Amino acid sequence: MPYEGEFAAYRALQRITETERVRQLLSRALVYTPGTSGPAITPSASPSAPEQLPEFIVAIDGSNPEVAVRNGYPGARVGYLTIASVILDLKAIDRLDAVRPADPAAFRKTEDTATIDAALPGSNVVTRTHRSAKVSFREELYDVFHNEVVDVQDRMPLLDTYEALLARKPTIRPQSCPYEDLGCDQSFVIGQGLSSCPCAERRSIWSTDALRIHERFHDVGTNGEAFGEVMQVWERVLLVHLLRAFERSEIFAQVHRLAFFIDGPLAIFGHPAWLSAAISAELQRINAKVRKLTGRDLIIVGVEKTGAFVTHFDEVDQTDEPGQERFEPRSYFLPTDRYIKQRIIYSDSPKRYGKDTYFGRKFFYKTKSGARIVASIPFLDVSQDTLDSDDVGLYPSFATVCALLDKLVSCRYPNALAPLVSAHAQAAIPLHLGAKVLEQLARALMRES
Ligand SMILES: [Zn+2]
Repeated sequence: MPYEGEFAAYRALQRITETERVRQLLSRALVYTPGTSGPAITPSASPSAPEQLPEFIVAIDGSNPEVAVRNGYPGARVGYLTIASVILDLKAIDRLDAVRPADPAAFRKTEDTATIDAALPGSNVVTRTHRSAKVSFREELYDVFHNEVVDVQDRMPLLDTYEALLARKPTIRPQSCPYEDLGCDQSFVIGQGLSSCPCAERRSIWSTDALRIHERFHDVGTNGEAFGEVMQVWERVLLVHLLRAFERSEIFAQVHRLAFFIDGPLAIFGHPAWLSAAISAELQRINAKVRKLTGRDLIIVGVEKTGAFVTHFDEVDQTDEPGQERFEPRSYFLPTDRYIKQRIIYSDSPKRYGKDTYFGRKFFYKTKSGARIVASIPFLDVSQDTLDSDDVGLYPSFATVCALLDKLVSCRYPNALAPLVSAHAQAAIPLHLGAKVLEQLARALMRES
């Protein structure tokens, strides 16, 4: 039963959809009639799971609320960003499952958690000698990457990984000076570390300016979008950072015993989208080494809770017969470029869907328990980097990923991943600054072997 206000809002919405203008617009819009046009959805049974599944899951999930602060200026706000990295011991989960169906509260006890957090200036928050909130935001963003040492033994700041990715950014298109709104008309390529603008003012330029998130920053008003972009970048750079830290460590040969889960698709949207190609290249470089060492591919999964693909999966799973769903438990569908453009996000562009933003590929999966999951797996070599084929044989880890999804899906939140749900809970209460993810993992891996 909706609240009174909700119902009123619904009625107001209904009135709008009934207006003549809206009707006229819709009469000119494309309509998809099921069964008449476009490619059909054809679920396939998921390949049988390998005997050895990874023993640990590293889940990365963050939150980025914008909060009002009091500093004497009206409308002052800061972005409060947290990331939880959660390590899940799958054997412990199995033991719990044997006793009772997975319950998130008990589930949480099986995790070793580590959280990092940061506060970024929003509107009307000006730090030190800066002239505007935007400059303050840029400097703090750099500091977050510069100061954040993820692992106490590895000591490498997040900036090291970010700048390795920046080194892969094509330099053919210089960007306009971040001080454009202060009158600078220069364009240049942003380099590593700290530098200065080429004009006479010689103002500070930080390597994180290449993300161009500041272009979405408003000195007055809300900055939810900018903080959202920071969060998305931070989570994905952290994933690459952890993999690079593994690569430097003695436990690298054991990387096949881990699987990595992140919240949202394997993509970077908005101004920092160039990072997507850099992350893809870096993952392929690391994976080539992993293959040589272990004969297997890295296991990285992005899980989506909302969006067009989630809605579409919900819709196409329904059949004309009540109670009868199209997807059997343990079946999947790998949408091709043609399918996506004709059935999910209409487009007749010859350019591949998500070409500039995605470093992985989406699929639909119905778990053993009947939950619908929209997830993505990365392109780990050139042959995997396609949306033309629907052959899962291209992705050797696919069966493992499906088996992991079967294991992880919580009954209480049927279409979300339990680790991501509880990572959210942890992210809301930051436990400490500076995580020890690698150290904890090394200990867990040693304990098991
Ligand atoms: Zn300048």
